[in-house]
Amino acid sequence: MMYQSTRGNNEQVTASQAILKGLASDGGLFVPDNIPQVNIKEPNFFSLSYRELAYKIMQPFLADFSENELISCIEAAYNQKFTHKKIAPLKKVGKDYYLELYHGPTLAFKDMALSILPHLMTTALKKQKVNNEIVILTATSGDTGKAAMEGFSDVLGTKIIVFYPKNGVSDVQEKQMLTQRGSNTFVVGINGNFDDAQKAVKEMFEDEELNDWLKSKNKQFSSANSINIGRLVPQIVYYFYAYQQLLEMNEIKLGEKINVSVPTGNFGNILAAYYAKKMGLPIEYLICASNENKVLTDFFTSGSYSRNRKFYVTNSPSMDILVSSNLERLLFQITNNDTTRLSSLMSSLNEKGNYELNHGEMEKLTDFYAGYTGESEIVSTVKEVFNQSAYVIDPHTAVAKKVADDFKHEKNNLNKTVIVSTASPYKFPDVFIESLEAKDKIKALHEKSHLPIPKVISELNNLQAREEHIVEISGMKEKVLEFLDS
Ligand SMILES: *Cc1c(COP(=O)(O)O)cnc(C)c1O
Repeated sequence: MMYQSTRGNNEQVTASQAILKGLASDGGLFVPDNIPQVNIKEPNFFSLSYRELAYKIMQPFLADFSENELISCIEAAYNQKFTHKKIAPLKKVGKDYYLELYHGPTLAFKDMALSILPHLMTTALKKQKVNNEIVILTATSGDTGKAAMEGFSDVLGTKIIVFYPKNGVSDVQEKQMLTQRGSNTFVVGINGNFDDAQKAVKEMFEDEELNDWLKSKNKQFSSANSINIGRLVPQIVYYFYAYQQLLEMNEIKLGEKINVSVPTGNFGNILAAYYAKKMGLPIEYLICASNENKVLTDFFTSGSYSRNRKFYVTNSPSMDILVSSNLERLLFQITNNDTTRLSSLMSSLNEKGNYELNHGEMEKLTDFYAGYTGESEIVSTVKEVFNQSAYVIDPHTAVAKKVADDFKHEKNNLNKTVIVSTASPYKFPDVFIESLEAKDKIKALHEKSHLPIPKVISELNNLQAREEHIVEISGMKEKVLEFLDS
């Protein structure tokens, strides 16, 4: 298994090289040269623990990792750092199934991949005999930043710099980042949105002057965003695990098709579901659920992608994104690996802010159903689920729930549908509390729901916040130099 850039054929790299580089030299994303196939009907395929399943699914993608190397990465990641012994439990609530991906150390699904990425990366460093220090440069819409800093905190041979939109994250998300420990971690708020941060980070990756400077200091960049293949591969695992739990609960028969509904921003989580489907997991529909920033809904319904539109700061901030990086990997699949076509679509996106698929390409998107949910519908969905089932969902999960309901009504489809639950309600208490007008929202959420307050939340008010760094987008590079040179 080798990886190549979505935009050119020349660069063939192994998994460990792709993980270290993050982004291909031509600005494209690394993609596997084939999608490994599994046979779910082989005996005992679905009788594995999360860790065993993780090995089985990830191994073919990480072909240059030895068995021992991969197993130790998995063991270091999926352990008691997760507060649920199943790691990713599936809960039946009414007629719905919620895949809870938020039992990791930072309470969002980003932990599923970011608890293993630092281990994959340090293993890759050893394998490739790289002596440089790795500098992780990351843009965040709120959850990646904390999860990545937590994962890389005090990891030898690494430094991490996180840029977040100063006015575009929840209070808890910001507090979590500003109380992060680890002298190798650095966090900067920007006066801009996630797309601005992601674009500037991608530009720094390609900045020759900056890369030369890093080289002279024995450092090199890598990424903890889902543009890194080391983020995507671990995310495939839990779709198989959800299916296994549906089997164990006797909700489906082996081979029965299911749907998954994924609250989507950068298109990473749902792309992992698509890879799972292509590997042989019986998923019929991939439901791509957006908030008010519905660039993907418009794309899947019209074939035209345009970021030339108003950017909304919403009550589901981790999905406030107009440039969904990982869509590039889907386009690579549906154009049959046509890198020339990809280069032209991506330069159109860069220069004009949009691109359009042709008819043949559109026809290959039938795996997907796309829809969106406005802010007030998010609040009413959270309320409705709680009133009906005494189950609390966070606003991102509400987006997936609402769009899944719309899908069922529209398509009259009877498949069991897994709603991907991406964050703990404690990360975004405002939405649940909106109607209660309580001052201490976390306390109100607890009193109303009796859901235990996670330790990482109750501790937040006692932790010392660090000095805040806020910069304009044009000042991001200077901040990188300042931190690295100190
Ligand atoms: C990051 C995030 C998303 C969006 O996931 P993508 O992989 O970027 O599509 C959804 N919900 C939450 C809570 C997140 O943190």
